[in-house]
Amino acid sequence: MQKNQEIILEITDYTAEGSGVGKYEGMAVFVPETAVGDTIKALILKVKKAYAFGKVLEIIKPSSNRCSCDCGVFSKCGGCAFRHINYEAEKTFKENKVYEAVKRIGGVDMKPQPIIYDKDLRYRNKVQYPVNFDGKAGFYAFHSHRIVPINDCLLQPIEFKGIISVIENWIKKNSISVYNEENGKGLIRHIFIRKAEKTNEIMVALVINSDDISQKDELINELLKENSNIKSIGLNINKNRTNVILGNLSKTIYGEDYIVDILCGIKVRLSLLSFYQVNRDMAEKLYNKAREYAKPENKTVLDLYCGAGTIGLSMAREAKKVIGVEIIPEAVKDAEFNAKNNGIKNARFICGDAAKAAEKLAEENIKTDVVIVDPPRKGCSEELIKTIAYKFSPDRVVYVSCDPATLARDIKLFSENGYKLIEYTPADLFPRTSHVETAALLIKG
Ligand code: SAH
Repeated sequence: MQKNQEIILEITDYTAEGSGVGKYEGMAVFVPETAVGDTIKALILKVKKAYAFGKVLEIIKPSSNRCSCDCGVFSKCGGCAFRHINYEAEKTFKENKVYEAVKRIGGVDMKPQPIIYDKDLRYRNKVQYPVNFDGKAGFYAFHSHRIVPINDCLLQPIEFKGIISVIENWIKKNSISVYNEENGKGLIRHIFIRKAEKTNEIMVALVINSDDISQKDELINELLKENSNIKSIGLNINKNRTNVILGNLSKTIYGEDYIVDILCGIKVRLSLLSFYQVNRDMAEKLYNKAREYAKPENKTVLDLYCGAGTIGLSMAREAKKVIGVEIIPEAVKDAEFNAKNNGIKNARFICGDAAKAAEKLAEENIKTDVVIVDPPRKGCSEELIKTIAYKFSPDRVVYVSCDPATLARDIKLFSENGYKLIEYTPADLFPRTSHVETAALLIKG
């Protein structure tokens, strides 16, 4: 196979990122925006030793899973992987993705429970738009930092569009400079908007490469005129030459430092830096599944990687006691506030690394019946898994994961240390992207 060669290819599988794959003369050829069941004419763009990349020239026979694309920037934007196939096919892809990881990496050949899901449009409650040099907000192109301007993203709440327009107009009218990654100069880096779905409260913030902005009052007035649900307007200061979007320091220029949402019957305070699942309705379904697996009634529950405490607090009313561990101090403060604000007295929170805090709790002879882990993508450390297995030895471990590959690796580690996978359920918190969450139940013995 050579670069610029045209080939006929049948798409037979997807990569974990959702690109179509076909085999040509024994070699895997990756072609984005194709669907399993397509026969295509592809142009080969790049050839490596064992695989190649191509792009579609013509769809000769479309897959029955194809649907018409409802987004004008799908081919350019790096946000969605699946606007060209129907949602049923996407859910099947996600169930398979988790199943294959659990089988291949985890060494357990067990089918998942049916994926849990909700709406596939406008489900996100948060956006962090970079701004281009024309002052237009957008998303990065796939695997790149080129900004694709976006008028209305179908994953975002409809009212974000008007808020973005107000900020774009304010930037233009006042000739406010925009941050340049190449030389570290310019003011506006990102626009941050978060909506509390249950209360409709909205937080707007500008991420800036300075300590303050001018023309603040004009911006505040225009924003409040646009949307009366805006309860907090802030600045986040990030002067670092880094890809990390948010800096550590925020200041409020209008209203409160936070907005409040309701999740699993718990009032949750959300400050700018707090982690909160971007899909509220699905987070509730996922936490309900975690609760079903945890059976927390009259138990001591250890909630590791607890963020603002949401999973543990959602079980606190039935549980005997909840102990949460989280590394970000602001999130721990939110968790403590959330417990108090909801009249929950049997929960305590520790700020620190999950593995170290677990070790310390074990030394203090704290007994737990259920351990919940909800780590970031890299999963748990072997050290933590051993502490859980040998020092706490709970009856149940509930693993909530945002990465099937590290979940599967950790299922294997748990199984080598006395815990058996009983059941697992994928949950679609990120429809139209290739990401999938999973809740898994492991039992001792
Ligand atoms: N359970 C929470 C948060 C899950 S996201 C929820 O559902 O909302 C993962 C969390 O782990 C983040 O809040 C992150 O700050 C935290 N974290 C990352 N590394 C950690 C570590 N080493 N120890 C403890 N917490 C950590």
